[in-house]
Amino acid sequence: MAAELAHETRDPRLLLREVNERIRSTNESFLVAADTYEVVCECARLDCLERLEVPVAAYEDVRLTFARFLVARGHEQAGIDRIVGDRPTYSVVELA
Ligand SMILES: [Zn+2]
Repeated sequence: MAAELAHETRDPRLLLREVNERIRSTNESFLVAADTYEVVCECARLDCLERLEVPVAAYEDVRLTFARFLVARGHEQAGIDRIVGDRPTYSVVELA
């Protein structure tokens, strides 16, 4: 699946977002009764395999702004990511 997605977009962060959107649609199609999504960290580290548990409402909110990404705490890139949401297990960053 990853190889197929890589053809669609070259930006790794957009690719990660696409993965998360697919996770979400899978969750919805299986009617998982949960108020959180387990998504992949959307930081710029290519080797990052971190998983984040994000409340559904928070996930939906981040997706409303194109430049915002969900990353694990400490995975923010200094000088590039502006932290707009600071949570115990993840950060919401906006590309500067
Ligand atoms: Zn990461």
